[in-house]
Amino acid sequence: MSANDYYRTLGVPRNASDEEIKTAFRKLALKCHPDRNPGNKDAEAQFKEIGEAYAALSNPEKRKLYDQFGAEGLKAGAGRGPGGFGGWPGADLGDIFGDIFDNFFTEAGGGRRRPRARRGADLKYDVEITLEEAFSGVKVPVNFDRTEVCEVCGGTGAKARTGLKKCATCRGAGRVQYAQGFFSFSQTCPDCGGQGEVVATPCRDCGGSGRQKKSVSLNIKIPQGADEGAVLRVSGAGDAGLREGGSGDLYIQVHLKHHPHFERQDLDLLYDCSLNVAQAALGCEASVPVIEGHKTTIRIPAGTQHGRVFRIHEKGMLAPGAKKRGDLLARVRIEIPADLTPRQKELFEELCGTFGHEPPRVEEKSFFKKILG
Ligand SMILES: [Zn+2]
Ligand SMILES: [Zn+2]
Repeated sequence: MSANDYYRTLGVPRNASDEEIKTAFRKLALKCHPDRNPGNKDAEAQFKEIGEAYAALSNPEKRKLYDQFGAEGLKAGAGRGPGGFGGWPGADLGDIFGDIFDNFFTEAGGGRRRPRARRGADLKYDVEITLEEAFSGVKVPVNFDRTEVCEVCGGTGAKARTGLKKCATCRGAGRVQYAQGFFSFSQTCPDCGGQGEVVATPCRDCGGSGRQKKSVSLNIKIPQGADEGAVLRVSGAGDAGLREGGSGDLYIQVHLKHHPHFERQDLDLLYDCSLNVAQAALGCEASVPVIEGHKTTIRIPAGTQHGRVFRIHEKGMLAPGAKKRGDLLARVRIEIPADLTPRQKELFEELCGTFGHEPPRVEEKSFFKKILG
């Protein structure tokens, strides 16, 4: 087993993660690839060894077998596919070697390559809604530009049906054999991206890219209870992908407009309830607006201090799914009149006389505490 220690071959510990194994393999494969070491037999042998080690360790089942029984366990394994465990793992190397081969082909080849399948980009859009809309839920029109599959050519990038011709590089097979010494690999054809066809005459509408910018308008439903910063995902509504890459997603971020009366605190709503000095001292009925649009009345008892909060149960915001409702908090603001009429001034002076000369000390203190706190 020591002659065949796959972990040592890749230079990783036995508890290495999949990612560490992959990274180690890539590094070594790049270093000792036969193309970079022409005629170097040692590099060639090492290249073969790391391929074998990676084939075993990159597959969870095979790795388990190998950990338990060593390389012999793999040879005896039931799942031996074409090529066996001892050789290069074939098709699944496409991903890992993609960029390496890309480089080789670019260096060697020239010529216009067709892009590989790629997922479309995700898009982000911000919407601003009122607090009332957030409370009830709302449908918002969202207008934005995105990349869509070209309608004229259906994404092929070729003019009508005659614009495509068989790919000369792979003779229509979509895959090419890449041979180096006694190694032979099959990989996706770099010229047609695996399609087996290339564009002879490009589509005029999209210039051969198969995609086009489009302005779209979608009605997005913002659910009841959405809060500032909430993000909704509209699956597949982003940019179209290339080939079979699939579309990206559209992310809608919700922002709440400033409200003239309410301040939102989680599920509760805060409302400043202005009273004049007489109302606060004598007590009164105060009218408080509610998010649904109507008003409710609360009883302000005589002697109510500035800053006192009255809780009106379940008149706040709804939680998503409307399972819970917050409260409405009416916070008393006592307005001290700045412009007194002569009559009011007279009354205040008379009132002041009834309090005597000593200011109400304790009251003053707690009053300031509330303001400053
Ligand atoms: Zn087109
Ligand atoms: Zn091809």
